[in-house]
Amino acid sequence: MADPYSKPGLTLVSTPIGNLGDISLRAIEALRSADKILCEDTRVSKRLLEKHGIVSRLSNYHEHNAKLVRPKIIDGLKAGAKIVLISDAGTPSISDPGYQLVKACIKNDLKISTVPGPTALIAALTISGLPTDSFYFGGFLPNKRNARRKKLLEQKELETTLIFYDSAKRLLNSLKDANYCLGERSAAIARELTKIHEDVQRGNILELIEYYERNGPPKGEVVVVIGPPTKKPNVDQKELKLMLQELLSNNSLRDSVKLATDKLGVSRSIVYEQALNINKE
Ligand code: SAM
Repeated sequence: MADPYSKPGLTLVSTPIGNLGDISLRAIEALRSADKILCEDTRVSKRLLEKHGIVSRLSNYHEHNAKLVRPKIIDGLKAGAKIVLISDAGTPSISDPGYQLVKACIKNDLKISTVPGPTALIAALTISGLPTDSFYFGGFLPNKRNARRKKLLEQKELETTLIFYDSAKRLLNSLKDANYCLGERSAAIARELTKIHEDVQRGNILELIEYYERNGPPKGEVVVVIGPPTKKPNVDQKELKLMLQELLSNNSLRDSVKLATDKLGVSRSIVYEQALNINKE
């Protein structure tokens, strides 16, 4: 069966996110048969092509020249060229240039196909240990605090796993903002995926803050994965009151609150408030 990329048109080809071995047979075939390969940084892509013995014409397509070169690319496609778009890593158009080119191809009724493959967000999600059935991908977290908090707060009510790209040096601040905006949640930091120093730190957000405060900011590339809000079980106030009355007759307020919180698995503040009321009575 003839593959779509063997015909004229634009093909989006996913490339490795670190380990150069993570490239599919179809990706190699598409790169080999392209008249032109559009990439962000020719030095990065050259390494990949050389590793797989591919000799092809590389041409720059990045956020700074995209607007300028897009009409020429469209002209080339109209003339019947087979053009491949790759990015420095992973799937083009995922937090990478590509979207506007795809839009322009659709507008000009030009053929587009895909050779899917690695993308950091899915790699991170699948090894995070957090729910995968439903998730939200928020792209890069903004580097300014106010904008970052706004973005996090906007997703607060979502009952899904949240995934963000971030820079390693900003990670600690992002985690602090996540804790401030989203409260206590499970999370995972996936770092340097598929590379020699691949590492995943899992825990609740506060534990991760402590970890990076102790060990210093991580090095390399990171994906932040944050679990959905934990559903607090409804509190049966009558049951809580009876339990606390009994506990308070033999224990301190602090111990009673802890014992009841652990036993019922409900929020400590609700238990504490009820304990104070009983003490007042
Ligand atoms: N197009 C890429 C993709 O499909 O994942 C994303 C490119 S975006 C410009 C780069 C960001 O992706 C990094 O800042 C980091 O958050 C994430 N990333 C890329 N490669 C990674 C890796 N090997 N390990 C962890 N995160 C990675």
